[in-house]
Amino acid sequence: MDEEPPPGVLDRGWRAKGGRTYHNDPACEWLRKGQNRLRLIGKDTPEVVPVRWADVSPGQLQPCDYCCAPAWLERHGGAQPADKPCLVLSDDEWWVGTLVWEEARRPDGLWWATVTYRKHGHVVTEVRSQHDIRAR
Ligand SMILES: [Zn+2]
Repeated sequence: MDEEPPPGVLDRGWRAKGGRTYHNDPACEWLRKGQNRLRLIGKDTPEVVPVRWADVSPGQLQPCDYCCAPAWLERHGGAQPADKPCLVLSDDEWWVGTLVWEEARRPDGLWWATVTYRKHGHVVTEVRSQHDIRAR
């Protein structure tokens, strides 16, 4: 399971839900083009969710030719904003995970984040408000 990503691929990336491509960059141009194409033919655009290379079964996802390249990594300093460690409340228990906050507070006055956490050995990715999240 803990496979090293191939060259040019970060160990934490992004995918469109249901998509078969692994992106280093959540703002990847190709990812956006794919979303636009779906929108044009009247389909719902899938959510872009964080994914760890180590959690991808072999052959399940293909690295994006555009942003999963050593040249892209070089342009972006080889770094990406790290997910912050956190605890996530689920079923009255706190689970160890990471989060990426949304860029702004929502109209409900709360901060929301995409959280990824491990629960009973499964990786769960959800969008949660600050009430369900604690720093660790
Ligand atoms: Zn890409």
